[in-house]
Amino acid sequence: MSTIDTAEYRKKLEEEKARLLHAVDFLVRENPGSISDELGEVAEGGTDNHLGDTATAMYDRELDDGLEEGARETLVEIDAALQRIEDGVYGICEVCGKPIGAERLSAIPWTRLCIDDQRRTSS
Ligand SMILES: [Zn+2]
Repeated sequence: MSTIDTAEYRKKLEEEKARLLHAVDFLVRENPGSISDELGEVAEGGTDNHLGDTATAMYDRELDDGLEEGARETLVEIDAALQRIEDGVYGICEVCGKPIGAERLSAIPWTRLCIDDQRRTSS
């Protein structure tokens, strides 16, 4: 069972969740159609630099898609962290069972692992 005061972390998680939902909403509104729709628009522009514009449009779109995907993955982790608070196991490393530590939880409130196991799993 976790003994830390979770109110502060729940607040941080909910703030981050709201920020990410806003970001995803913005990205979705920025890119309503498919990439081919977007490229079609560029092609219709009939600009001399059609190939350059297409490359830029592709790059921008891939960047946005990557941002959106990253945001969605973090949203899943935030929901899992909020569930861990409900279950009373928030702040406990899922690998070694030791407390993750206030500093690390303040930096990454949705983290599942202590710094040692994070390093182990990412190396
Ligand atoms: Zn650990």
